[in-house]
Amino acid sequence: MWRPEPVFQPPAELPAHWNEHLPHFQQDWIRKTLFRASAKTGKPDLVPQLKLWWYPPQPPLIHAQPPASPDLFFCRPLFLWMPLKMWSIPLVCVQPACSNHKLTAAGLYRTVRKVLDIDGWYDLATEYLECKRCKKKYPAWSEDILGQLDMGHRCQFPALLTYRYSCDYRVLRMMRERTLGNSVTQLFKKLSEEHSEAWTQRVLQYLTACEPFTRSTVIHPPVFAEPPPLPALPKPKWLLAVYARDVLMRLDEIKAKITSVFGSVLKMDSTKKVR
Ligand SMILES: [Zn+2]
Repeated sequence: MWRPEPVFQPPAELPAHWNEHLPHFQQDWIRKTLFRASAKTGKPDLVPQLKLWWYPPQPPLIHAQPPASPDLFFCRPLFLWMPLKMWSIPLVCVQPACSNHKLTAAGLYRTVRKVLDIDGWYDLATEYLECKRCKKKYPAWSEDILGQLDMGHRCQFPALLTYRYSCDYRVLRMMRERTLGNSVTQLFKKLSEEHSEAWTQRVLQYLTACEPFTRSTVIHPPVFAEPPPLPALPKPKWLLAVYARDVLMRLDEIKAKITSVFGSVLKMDSTKKVR
């Protein structure tokens, strides 16, 4: 017998404390896209089909009504990191006394991080994991958890986290390509250029959508909200600190590269000698 697909309602609210971490222009689409109201409690449950990257809906091409707010033009992506829920990867407590006790899911972590990308920002959310033996809890983006993953899964995590902001690896790779000395100020300039270019395009799109309604002949033309200001970039000093952390974390990899280059030079030299 044919049964209609159940229609899920979005919840009235985001998970606890997400509102405090997400700018207002992010809240509405994330609530409607990632969550549905639990049938019993009305609380937000994650939708069943999970994925890593979530993208906001695009503003309509043609506006029949004046845009109610600029929010829709300034949304940014969200990255959802849940290695236990998504892949059922067995993860363990790192406390020595717990001798690899398996961690269990403890819902969504209440903090959402903002990540610096090349031409904008995105938000990063994760799951909370709990050791039932020692009661220690881990956000799944912590090094204790990331360090337990195989390379294939680990490399899908896109950012290096620091206390205040977090930095996408694509930005870090841009820094690695530069030579020391001009690196940080040059990168800061480049990022400022990319960020303000992308932001200006969004402002233009918003103004273009508003424009036809300002020309109407009605006596009281609609009043439009100002577009939000361009979010400030972290200072070059912060970029340098993140770069230093990136290098520290990759020390073994860097050492291996140096050894392999050095090794091949030795080999060339020995070949010459044989000749
Ligand atoms: Zn434990």
